[in-house]
Amino acid sequence: MALENTGYLEYEELVQIQTIPDEERFKKGAVAVIECVQQIPCNPCEAACSRKAIIIGNPITNLPIVNGDECTGCGICVSKCPGMAIFIVNKVHSETKATVAFPYEYFPIPTEGEEVKAVNRKGEVVCDGKVIKVMNPKAFDHTPVITIEIPKEYVDQVRSIQRRRAE
Ligand code: SF4
Ligand code: SF4
Repeated sequence: MALENTGYLEYEELVQIQTIPDEERFKKGAVAVIECVQQIPCNPCEAACSRKAIIIGNPITNLPIVNGDECTGCGICVSKCPGMAIFIVNKVHSETKATVAFPYEYFPIPTEGEEVKAVNRKGEVVCDGKVIKVMNPKAFDHTPVITIEIPKEYVDQVRSIQRRRAE
């Protein structure tokens, strides 16, 4: 697995290992995409979702599965995952744009309206993006969830933003 050798996952590998929402669900709007592929004893994501949309069950080493019928794309689980492995993807944000939400534990925290460089799982810049939402309540315990808008064609690649220097 590339993850073990390189520290990142190729999309082709991800879809073979993890259950990703199908295109019909993506057409309905924002939904959690979980990129957790190692069978570790972990389940804060399951506990975080009040709609019980994330299922791990027994044993605790099961990979999490998202029930797309229940997931509202709220983003709470994103902040609760110690592996930073959950993203909220909206492929129908507008005619030409999609959105991706991700955890971001760096300073400076981006602000809404800011223009950013969107990066893929390897940290490579793939396109320009714009921050449209920053969620950072106390309950997220210092793991802000940032939502960026990007051109639709990059939605399966983009998973974060390039770190910026403090002013
Ligand atoms: S995005 Fe919200 S509704 Fe969906 S799985 Fe996460 S916590 Fe549950
Ligand atoms: S909290 Fe994160 S790392 Fe833990 S099982 Fe859920 S998705 Fe995987």
